[in-house]
Amino acid sequence: MSLPRIDTVVTYPDGDLTSTGAVVHVEPLPDGRAAVLLDRTAFHPVDPVWPDQPADVGTLFVDGRSYAVVDAVVGATDGTVLHVGDAPVRTGTEGWAFVVCHLVEDAGGIEPGAAAVVRVEPERRRALSAGHTACHLASLALNEALSGLWTKDVPVDARGRPNFDQLAIVSSRILEGGSVDEYRIGKSLRKKGFAAADLAGLREEASAAVDRTLAAWIGGGADVSIVRDPGALGLGDRRRWRAELPGGAVEIPCGGTHLRSLTELSGADVRLELAETEGALALTMRTTAHLARPAAHLA
Ligand SMILES: [Zn+2]
Repeated sequence: MSLPRIDTVVTYPDGDLTSTGAVVHVEPLPDGRAAVLLDRTAFHPVDPVWPDQPADVGTLFVDGRSYAVVDAVVGATDGTVLHVGDAPVRTGTEGWAFVVCHLVEDAGGIEPGAAAVVRVEPERRRALSAGHTACHLASLALNEALSGLWTKDVPVDARGRPNFDQLAIVSSRILEGGSVDEYRIGKSLRKKGFAAADLAGLREEASAAVDRTLAAWIGGGADVSIVRDPGALGLGDRRRWRAELPGGAVEIPCGGTHLRSLTELSGADVRLELAETEGALALTMRTTAHLARPAAHLA
């Protein structure tokens, strides 16, 4: 079997839940499972470098047999070795192929060249997409709510507000129907002009402001999409989340999956929590997304 020299074509950025393709490689793993590589897939894999959105689960069909895909992870290969989830190079590095590794317990009967169909479990995907869309909206709304705390010029977000989210984020986790973002406000952020001492007194007000902004945006029912450059359909190609918000479209780099419209949400809200840590403040934003109704195809 030979390893692929080109990226897996990914169709999940368009919201696809099923795809057809061919098996290109099967890699036995030390834990007894196997990684199945296809030329094309609708499966969203977790990216260990920035593991914000968890992997899809679902089923792989090959030669009339079905295989449960228990996990999916970003892999990288230079053509000689397949790194499953521990790529030694940055995504997009020249000379490397970035591939979706579909993990199955037993790949018996799966041969390269065989036709393959994948089916992603739709309810989990939809709940993760709702969580991811709400996460991006909440980060923009948080930037807006905290904009008055900056005393110096700093890089701004897609709406021109000081980009607290980008400057302070430590981790972001997308959940089914929500997200948890962790921010660290330490010496360097204070040096950049963030009035950290005023944050505690503003916490409740900021959280209410974020909720109001979210309500206005969701009420506007904006279209949401993932934008790719023409022909850039590989896993390692850059993609951008785009929302047609009132006041102008915004774009944020993003590798995840999203709803297609804010009309799919009935609302979203956040909880802001502040804690003192060693020499810094830790701000946690817990976002909850409420789906408007079951998707038509699930009803
Ligand atoms: Zn994202």
